[in-house]
Amino acid sequence: MQYTRLAQAYQRLEETSARLKLIEVLAELFGETPKPLLRKVVYLCQGKIAPDFAGVEIGLAEKLAARSVAEAAGAAEDRVQSLLRRRGDLGTVAEELLAERGTRRSHLTVQEVFDHLEAIAQASGKGAQTQKISSLADLLRRATPLEARYLVRTVTGKLRLGVGDASILDALAEVYAGGRANRAPLERAYNICSDLGLVAETLVRGGVAAVEGMEVRPGHPVRPMLAQRLATSEEILAKLGGVCAAEYKYDGERVQAHRLDGKVVLFSRRLENITEQFPDAVELLQHGLRPKRAILEAEIVAVDPESGELRPFQELMQRRRKYGIEEAARRIPVGLFCFDLLYGEGGDLTRRPYLDRRRALERAVRTGDRLQLATWKLVRSVEELDAFFEQAVADGCEGVLCKSVAEDAVYQAGARGWLWIKHKREYRTELQDTLDLVVVGAFYGRGRRSGTYGALLVAAYDPSEDTFRTFCKVGSGFSDEDLAHLPHRLRPYQVDHRPPRVDSKLEPDVWFHPAVVLEVVGAEITLSPTHTVAWGRLKEGAGLALRFPRFTGRYRDDKRPEDATTVEEIWELYQRARHRAVRVGEREG
Ligand code: AMP
Repeated sequence: MQYTRLAQAYQRLEETSARLKLIEVLAELFGETPKPLLRKVVYLCQGKIAPDFAGVEIGLAEKLAARSVAEAAGAAEDRVQSLLRRRGDLGTVAEELLAERGTRRSHLTVQEVFDHLEAIAQASGKGAQTQKISSLADLLRRATPLEARYLVRTVTGKLRLGVGDASILDALAEVYAGGRANRAPLERAYNICSDLGLVAETLVRGGVAAVEGMEVRPGHPVRPMLAQRLATSEEILAKLGGVCAAEYKYDGERVQAHRLDGKVVLFSRRLENITEQFPDAVELLQHGLRPKRAILEAEIVAVDPESGELRPFQELMQRRRKYGIEEAARRIPVGLFCFDLLYGEGGDLTRRPYLDRRRALERAVRTGDRLQLATWKLVRSVEELDAFFEQAVADGCEGVLCKSVAEDAVYQAGARGWLWIKHKREYRTELQDTLDLVVVGAFYGRGRRSGTYGALLVAAYDPSEDTFRTFCKVGSGFSDEDLAHLPHRLRPYQVDHRPPRVDSKLEPDVWFHPAVVLEVVGAEITLSPTHTVAWGRLKEGAGLALRFPRFTGRYRDDKRPEDATTVEEIWELYQRARHRAVRVGEREG
């Protein structure tokens, strides 16, 4: 398969702002891809050569890539740099410079490009830089201008076609599973292995049956199961059939620990490998885990070294660093509170009910001071649950997580279902509710804020259509320091037109690819003619918006944009607030 075919598809993807069109273009491309190449083409469409968790970075710094461009185009480096300043994108610069050499046919194949990218990613040690530069120059010399545009963007990590995981799954289902309606088994497979390339390969080799047979395996992070939320014990118990396992909800960072081949690897909630950051947690698990192969989930929490008391989330965040890790580990020790076991002696446990998994977890972990199981209790009444909640808060937790003990309460990877329901302290007063919203645009600031942004356009996620729908403009709550850094922080995601997965009626000064997640609080949710969350659901021509939104100061870097608050959650919050208002009205009336 020629790389030109891929470059053409990229160009079409880049030009579209409709999600259905994205899927159509991808499906056409996947349909034409020879089976043995499909895995690679899937990665390349996301600008990668391996799944995220593998930690393979092609990432050649723009400065170095610019040298390859100069070399391949026979242009002076100064000229490349000055063009880059004007165009703002090295891909476009490479395209322009190569076009000056006249048109040419390319003979680059996808396989060759992939091999080169792998070599660039793997080059290390002395002479690695030179090797990377000449490897890219070699590709560019043989490329057409259009191919050069995308090669450079891929190598510098700036492909950004707006293609989400869900679009790729839709396209695969369209071509190889008899239509998008049959996406579910593919989605489940992806949720348990986090590797779209592997799902694609399994699908073309063994059909849907093979995909359905896939199991979790240590080494492949499982997309985390998430919780719905409700504000009272009554509602929670009613939803869970009158009985549930209530667990403390620790306020730290979620980790998924994988043990295999004598090693422990830690993945964050976003499935990034964070093993290096927590050598102390790794050590705890090396000694405390009985099974040789296991996948366990826990919350990492900062603990006071003297009293063993839980410390706030902000302290743990100081452990997120590249340097001085050992020193930080001494200063801010952590404890692990384990709450699930996805793989153990019996193999894949994700299809087993909660109580079975909890028992397996108890057998698997040798507990100690710093390695504990989440405190839990089987509760059957509102009074019991209220008392447990109060105790959790008194012990320094955020609240409780109530888990279904039904026979079908399996581990739902990647899903926010009603088998887990969270009940946080702040939900008690509706107006304090925090939401995690995704930045999709910005408006320039004036006066004191000129040179930065006056407000950000933020959105909630709609998983049913893999779309981000706007919910409000946030302008308050930013410290001067936050404000000064915003343009810099957001620049990598800036694009010149509305990204295809964003649904907005407002036209901000600047658009961003959904990437950065902010924690926001607001006063109340109201009907709105400008925002697109739950558009038309209550009233034609109106969506929902957050009134008086304020940034809490907390960037949710631990969340991917797809982990943001969903449209459905907002809808639920809105409905509940309305019911409450009606109830209060009845009482007062
Ligand atoms: P939230 O981040 O507000 O959606 O709440 C869900 C998060 O609570 C999970 O992703 C975990 O990081 C955390 N958590 C704390 N304690 C538990 C527990 N016992 N069971 C499950 N999740 C927990």
